[in-house]
Amino acid sequence: MLAPTVRFAPSPTGRIHIGNARTALLNALLARQGGGRFVLRFDDTDRERSREEYAVSIEADLAWLGIVPDLVVRQSDRVALYDAAVARLKAAGRLYPAYETADELDRRRKRLQTRGLPPVYDRAALDLSEADRARLEAEGRRPHWRFRLEPGTVSWSDLVRGDSAIDCASLSDPVLVREDGSYLYTLPSVVDDIDLRITDVVRGEDHVTNTAVQLQLFAALGAPAPRFGHHNLLVNASGEGFSKRSGAMSLTGLREAGAEALAVAALAVLTGSATAIHPIATLDALGPVELGRLSRAPARFDEAELWGLTAKTLHGLPFAAVRERLAARGVPMDATGEDFWRIVQGNLARFDEVDLWWSVVAGVITPVSEDAEFLAAAARLLPPEPWTAETWAQWTALAKTETGRKGRALFHPLRLALTGRDTGPELAALLPLIGRAKALARLAGQPG
Ligand code: GLU
Repeated sequence: MLAPTVRFAPSPTGRIHIGNARTALLNALLARQGGGRFVLRFDDTDRERSREEYAVSIEADLAWLGIVPDLVVRQSDRVALYDAAVARLKAAGRLYPAYETADELDRRRKRLQTRGLPPVYDRAALDLSEADRARLEAEGRRPHWRFRLEPGTVSWSDLVRGDSAIDCASLSDPVLVREDGSYLYTLPSVVDDIDLRITDVVRGEDHVTNTAVQLQLFAALGAPAPRFGHHNLLVNASGEGFSKRSGAMSLTGLREAGAEALAVAALAVLTGSATAIHPIATLDALGPVELGRLSRAPARFDEAELWGLTAKTLHGLPFAAVRERLAARGVPMDATGEDFWRIVQGNLARFDEVDLWWSVVAGVITPVSEDAEFLAAAARLLPPEPWTAETWAQWTALAKTETGRKGRALFHPLRLALTGRDTGPELAALLPLIGRAKALARLAGQPG
């Protein structure tokens, strides 16, 4: 099979959310696994609602997930292509002007619905004569343009849903061009898919009905159609889909709250798939995308699961995977830095908690002194450096013999003094990194 060219096509009208991440990642993984290309296409034909800041944030969010597009295009730069397609459709008699106002259309829809009929546009505009149109235009009306659907059933073999068919009698002729000449999503999407030689359109199942219309458009424009796959949507605990408008579960928000990108990716891709959710250390560990094995039911995204998976992801990441992030927080990129990561990673629920442990190792903390007398005795027994992983056991064995303490009464005051905290990484591992000078200060109850 030819290497695939896929696209992720958000409108820059808000921040992308976990559900969009599912679409983006499925596409990116298909491209990567098939040695193909991933196009990021900004569907910004809605000039009112599209914003540059959202386009910028979408690229940043994708980069955070580990997706770097091979090509970025904006529909607002490509209007000449859409105009040419419109000319072609008009010449073929597939695009017709209609003059109904939104109110008129609404009233007609309601009338049909009260009679129990599907609210399909009645094509009244097809009966307008030249003279009718001239009169309407003289009244100041401007047309919008509808695509005349061919009757009959459109069918395709969906990469996710298998054999799929839509009877076009149940669809209104879609409006492709608004009164002000601007484009709705349907036509530009097809024109771009043709122009950019998209081989596979993988998107949410909210677009299934568009597929019938778009397949007719590919044919009307004389182009072969790509394959289509419509994946199940992620929904929240109450079964509702996510929306860019609400901002809930936005990738930016999750990143700022400390979610790990790889945890977000694992949940976005594996929820409602044939593979159990598991922590990953690279995107490739998600395994091959098997669109045909995605569940058909909505996939429930559980935020609590994200925080558990964030912690598990951190516990499994090798030093090499977090080097830059540690360096940015002042952790040295040497053996100490590597030891530090290995020792503390198992205690992290969020990455930024490394700050706390790095200050325990290399910064100044205020020790908690529960029992000064015992701590002074322990300080006197502290072995000379160099220290190893055995130092802690040797030291506490001595302290046990000398003071008669054992168990929690022995270890807990030492932990509080040395780290200032109740719980944390193994002290046997941490102690050599803290070093004798800091340990002595802290055992004496002094900041160190
Ligand atoms: N802009 C559309 C959306 O965000 C793209 C749909 C498609 O992939 O064709 O839903």
